[in-house]
Amino acid sequence: MEKLIITAAVCGSVPTRQQNPNVPYTPSEIAEEALRCWRAGATVAHIHVRDPLTGEPAFKQELFTEVSERIRDASDMLVNLTTSGFNIQADNINGARLMPLTLKPDLCSLDVGSLNFRGRVFINPPEWVQDAAARMRDAGVKPEMEVFELGHIRQAADLMKSGLVDDPPYFQICLGINWGADADLDTLLAFKARLPQGCQWSVLGTGKNQLPITTHAMLLGGHVRVGFEDNLYLSRGVKAKTNAQFVERTVELARILQREIATCQEARSILGLKAELSTGR
Ligand code: ZN
Repeated sequence: MEKLIITAAVCGSVPTRQQNPNVPYTPSEIAEEALRCWRAGATVAHIHVRDPLTGEPAFKQELFTEVSERIRDASDMLVNLTTSGFNIQADNINGARLMPLTLKPDLCSLDVGSLNFRGRVFINPPEWVQDAAARMRDAGVKPEMEVFELGHIRQAADLMKSGLVDDPPYFQICLGINWGADADLDTLLAFKARLPQGCQWSVLGTGKNQLPITTHAMLLGGHVRVGFEDNLYLSRGVKAKTNAQFVERTVELARILQREIATCQEARSILGLKAELSTGR
């Protein structure tokens, strides 16, 4: 079985300090949380940025830059910047969403389909999907294709057929978001059955489903994502003090299940990335 890639999604754009006082807001806090996760065994940092003062979702280049540089200066962790753009207003929304590509991250998330997302509509029209995939390919940035519904896999397969995604295709199966697919084993198996041959895949589950769904993924040969973006609690009523606690628990489970953890260099190789850091430093 492939060695396990653990992605740490340390803040997302939704969780607040009212919900858990340990949610990082400033670039230095976000980077420090990512690095704590790296020391615990995580290999990929999935990054959103926040207004440092208010914690409101932000999408500013200087914030992404500071977080990326702080992580890279201190580690060989793979940097994965969001392009969800869920909270930005712009005339050229697709162009604005792809701003993180200019920072030469190792990966960017690529949402390949639309859905009702909590109280809003997460709009990812076909032209966005095509354009984003082409721009990521041109920029040499690996797309992490986020799929929330089975049909999104079909859309991803269409991108692959068009030659817009380099091998191996990499999927993040996003389960338990209201109102996407359920975070349970039946649903995960339905997704897994439809993934293309030779792809790499990871799973996230929201809230209390994070632990069981990531455990299922480890047993099924997938990779996992953990962290505050998806879950603020270690167990019922117990708020996590740091994202690293989720990583530590994942590493311990992997040890029990005899699934080896990938190093950052091994994660690069598994995902088909260049061995050296893409910043060229
Ligand atoms: Zn995200």
